[in-house]
Amino acid sequence: MSRRQVVVKCIAAVILILLLAVSVAGTRAVAGRQYPADRLTEVPVLNYHMVEDLNISLALSPEQFEEQIRYLAENDYHTITPDQLLDYLENGTSLPDKAVMITFDDGYLDNYTKAYPILKKYGFTATIFVVTSMVGTDPRFLTWDEIREMQQNGFVFGSHTVNHVAVTTISSQQVLTELVESSKVIEAELGAKPKYFAYPTGAYNRQTAQLVKTAGYKAAFTIRYGRAGVESDHFAIERIPIFRSAKTFRSFYYRLTAAPLLERLGIIRN
Ligand SMILES: [Zn+2]
Repeated sequence: MSRRQVVVKCIAAVILILLLAVSVAGTRAVAGRQYPADRLTEVPVLNYHMVEDLNISLALSPEQFEEQIRYLAENDYHTITPDQLLDYLENGTSLPDKAVMITFDDGYLDNYTKAYPILKKYGFTATIFVVTSMVGTDPRFLTWDEIREMQQNGFVFGSHTVNHVAVTTISSQQVLTELVESSKVIEAELGAKPKYFAYPTGAYNRQTAQLVKTAGYKAAFTIRYGRAGVESDHFAIERIPIFRSAKTFRSFYYRLTAAPLLERLGIIRN
């Protein structure tokens, strides 16, 4: 080995050590704020869209979806509701071991026909954010009867606006209309105002987060990559988007188990 090669290898080793140090230091930043150990749990909030045999990244096949749900069941994960998550984030109320939240955006019909039977089979529940103008009007989406049936079985429904608009692209007044009108429809159909919101396309900023709060929601979810923890902004809670890819399960596994480290190292981005 030439001297030059030795120098290059040394530099590479130092960079690797620095990267690892940054990741470990990042882990301790939360602990550095003196939270008790039971407040350091971070919850993966998985984000799905469709469970259908469509060759697009937003659609997992029913087999791919079941493989992931079976993995969660066999590895003793417990699904929690957004109420449980918020109670933990706000009050420190304890969570079941290996808590995970399963969410779906948009409210596709396959959430009822394909995902729901699989989730029931493993004793899991999920939270679904619906686009209210699509419910019961577009055959690709859920109906209120299907939603009510799932709700009776522990599923939670939140708002994903009336028209699936990215709230950063419209006026504050339009944002409020989307937030309030979708809430009213859900309240009329399900008997209670939705407490949770998911930003269409994930787009949000400080102003839109404030509007979500003003409209009466308790918390909102982004598609910003990460886990929900004690330092999460309750109106911009991180999630872990799950996509179909050439290696769907492997990608799911790494995203579920190694999210904070891989994200800090810049290996996983949205
Ligand atoms: Zn969406």
